[in-house]
Amino acid sequence: MYAVAAQRTEDVAAAVNFARKHNLRVVVKGGGHSYQGTSNAADSLLIGTRRMNAVTVHDGFIGAGCTGRHEPQQAVTAEAGAIWGQVYDAVTTKAGRYVQGGGCLTVGVAGLIQSGGFGSFSKAYGMGAASLVEAELVTADGAVRIANACTNPDLFWGIKGGGGGSLGIVTRLTLRTHTLPDFFGAVNMTIKATSDAAFRLLIGRILSFYSESLLNPHWGEQIAFRPGDILAIAMVFQGLDQQQAETIWRPFLDWLAGAPQDFSMVSAPWIVAVPARRFWDPGFLKGVPGVVLADDRPGAPEANVFWAGNLGEAGQVLHGYQSAWLPVSLLQPDRQEALGDALFAASRHWGVSLHVNKGLAGGPPDAIATAKDTAMNPAVLDAFALIISGAEGPPAYPGIPGHEPDPSAAREHAEAIDRAMNEIRTLLPRVGSYVAESDFFEPAWQKSFWGSNYARLLAVKEKYDPDGLFFVHHGVGSELWSADGFTRLAAR
Ligand SMILES: Cc1cc2nc3c(=O)[nH]c(=O)nc-3n(C[C@H](O)[C@H](O)[C@H](O)COP(=O)(O)OP(=O)(O)OC[C@H]3O[C@@H](n4cnc5c(N)ncnc54)[C@H](O)[C@@H]3O)c2cc1C
Repeated sequence: MYAVAAQRTEDVAAAVNFARKHNLRVVVKGGGHSYQGTSNAADSLLIGTRRMNAVTVHDGFIGAGCTGRHEPQQAVTAEAGAIWGQVYDAVTTKAGRYVQGGGCLTVGVAGLIQSGGFGSFSKAYGMGAASLVEAELVTADGAVRIANACTNPDLFWGIKGGGGGSLGIVTRLTLRTHTLPDFFGAVNMTIKATSDAAFRLLIGRILSFYSESLLNPHWGEQIAFRPGDILAIAMVFQGLDQQQAETIWRPFLDWLAGAPQDFSMVSAPWIVAVPARRFWDPGFLKGVPGVVLADDRPGAPEANVFWAGNLGEAGQVLHGYQSAWLPVSLLQPDRQEALGDALFAASRHWGVSLHVNKGLAGGPPDAIATAKDTAMNPAVLDAFALIISGAEGPPAYPGIPGHEPDPSAAREHAEAIDRAMNEIRTLLPRVGSYVAESDFFEPAWQKSFWGSNYARLLAVKEKYDPDGLFFVHHGVGSELWSADGFTRLAAR
């Protein structure tokens, strides 16, 4: 109904105090990339943070109250409304360092970090939330609080993966930065098998190749299995040069080339490495045809670019979206057969994609240890991938003739996704799902998103927001409220 375009922490605190005093439904919006639509709500007071987007790089940062307990470390502070493209420009292009953020350049910093946060290279650097050093938040009582390992450590733990919009409004975040490798790169190819039997063979081969050669900190992103017997590989790597990457893929490519009767290339293998410092450099990217698009609004800064492939996602209507973490035990030689069968069976219904950068198995011990100290579902620790199945239609608007959504297609797609993911779920001892990339209708969402951490997370919520000022769909403590967030269901 009304929106506050906050420019500083005091604006956020004033808006929170106003909302609490007048008993208003509050929503917070940063980058606006919530798949579940949790950054807007009918009849709410919206607190927007996009104007708070300063980014500052530090050589030696120590959290408040941590002097004498922690060593200074290289870090970056981003205000809550910054988006990852802006942070990468400051940290990587300008300062030659690495910070763990998201893949899409327009995702918001605060939303992603509170979700847990994965980027293309998370297998090496861990979850974004695990690099959090300190945050400033406005809590439901209107207080401006610092949260770090030394001050309000319970709140600090909760915002590391506890999901956005539930515990308070983050106004700024400080993240550890890491040494930048020399190269980042990408491997792309799409292969069509000429028969179902050949496709099943191909699935087996990519699984064994992945587990022998790619299950390590160098490799991230996606391996997709699609109807029509299609395997699409869109992977990235870090810390290898082009020749090293080519050598790693050679046995797989030779195997394919040895069976031309079984496999054809829909798009030919393409392996490229670039100096890591140029990977997010807007000036460099604009010179590579088709890679990025520029913000075409009048007066937009030169550095505002986004991956061209993301354009189709703007305004899209999600027809269905499900995800599940796959334990690395499924890659054991005696389980690969069952995993291959399930992927094949799933691909008869709908496309499924392994996002191998969204599970930490195969990552370095430090990435796994820091992830343990977050609110994230522990299922992420021994998962080699998050499997995602989704479908969408073009931008559509109910009530606008010629631009209406297509509910019957949506239902059909959602059912196909369900059938595909059911094939996968039969393999899983427990189903965990990534809060930021999950089903709006997720059953038992508390367990799915946070597993054994949920009780502790709920205690943090009760401590800092006992009256439930902050509500989001399937957010921590939302089970106490009606679906629209207006009515408390149970007495405390
Ligand atoms: C195209 C696209 C690509 C994506 N890519 C990735 C990816 O590569 N890796 C990944 O891990 N995730 C990815 N996601 C998911 C994304 O990380 C989450 O949806 C994230 O929460 C988005 O943050 P936001 O600030 O952009 O979104 P918003 O919609 O603004 O906010 C998301 C949630 O966080 C809350 N929130 C926002 N700002 C604050 C704040 N300052 N304080 C407290 N709560 C706040 C909102 O209330 C909302 O509940 C992607 C999503 C999309 C749509």
